Amino acid sequence: MIDANRPELTSWLSVSQDSDFPIQNLPFGVFSTPSLPAVCGTRVGDFAVDLDALQRLGYLEGLGLPDGLFAQDHLNAFIACGKKTWSDVRLRLSQILRSESSFPLEKNREHQNQCVHEQGAVRMHLPARIGDYTDFYASREHATNVGKMFRDPENALLPNWLHLPVGYHGRASTLVVSGTDIYRPNGQRKGPNDPAPVFGPSVKMDFELEVGFLTGQGPEMGDWISTKVAEDYIFGLVLFNDWSARDLQQWEYVPLGPFLGKNFASSMSPWVVTLEALESFRTDGPLQSPEPLPYLHQPKNSHINLNLEVALAPRGEEETVISRTNFSTMYWSMAQQLAHHTCNGCAIKAGDLLASGTISGATPDSFGSLLELSWNGTQPLQLKNGTERRFLDDGDTLILRGHAAHSGIRIGFGEVSGTLLPAKAWTA
Ligand code: MN
Repeated sequence: MIDANRPELTSWLSVSQDSDFPIQNLPFGVFSTPSLPAVCGTRVGDFAVDLDALQRLGYLEGLGLPDGLFAQDHLNAFIACGKKTWSDVRLRLSQILRSESSFPLEKNREHQNQCVHEQGAVRMHLPARIGDYTDFYASREHATNVGKMFRDPENALLPNWLHLPVGYHGRASTLVVSGTDIYRPNGQRKGPNDPAPVFGPSVKMDFELEVGFLTGQGPEMGDWISTKVAEDYIFGLVLFNDWSARDLQQWEYVPLGPFLGKNFASSMSPWVVTLEALESFRTDGPLQSPEPLPYLHQPKNSHINLNLEVALAPRGEEETVISRTNFSTMYWSMAQQLAHHTCNGCAIKAGDLLASGTISGATPDSFGSLLELSWNGTQPLQLKNGTERRFLDDGDTLILRGHAAHSGIRIGFGEVSGTLLPAKAWTA
């Protein structure tokens, strides 16, 4: 058992029973306050803890960390230190913040004033400067549903799908942190029965329920990361909403894949939950048949038993939960995605983001997009306020939540939310 994960640990900071952030979580993120420029931090309960202040006060001595490692508005330098450092820092944070700590912070008010902030008083930022972003398509149920709708119900999965994790290169420039408003995109669309394409605001705005992971510093270009060691290169996980304009996507995607229907915005949760914190929630994924090629050999316990839910809140109204599913339903694991991504020598840098693709379960109440939940608009969803949705309306807020739980321990992600604003009036 990893010491920082021991279920009996409690913190001297108060943590409510249903918190996603007990002392066994200790995620990493970046926050600022009106008087404090952005720094790297961790979270316990409803408190954000400033790692730069901890380091300056000597609490992180003996770990061999460079000065100022956390005095930055991104985690990249810390991520580049590698797995042993991630683990050493997490253990030290546990030792500082646990009840009956041998470190003086528990008793030292002056130090607490410098290091500990109420979560409600801080502003969260993107946790990393994400150099590259790749999106996969790793849910068999999602790929099957989309194949049925857009291609051929009899041959919903394309011939490559069961042999490799299909993915595409996304765009890092429009990744945003939870709470950022999203403009409905303008673009070109043409439905199958329209006589000609038109330009204007998307009329099929959607979300995608995904989980992403930030990568460590990979080997040099030309080398690869095998499934055996892939998890050493996974820093941590985030919830990820890959906003999608289905009408733009359907018209543009052949033959080179997603483009403007996807790259206008993707939102991520601010606290990166380490793979180590999720260690006791590991499980096997679905049986893979046909067996993948040897370079994609699946390690045991490759998946995480992570409960996910999607809520939609019309402007000023209460939310309706529109989907519940589990991350462990994914056909291709994170290790397989990383191994496949690098098998050709593609370089991976500290703070790159790899996202899972839409996570859909087997039943209609577990689908991870409105495209599937409303079956391309043919079966509208009923919301609590009496309205219905085929796709997103302007003013809708979309919220993803996720947590793993068993034996009284709950490790969660908080949420990623975003509100859809009307399209900007387009002028040449
Ligand atoms: Mn996606």
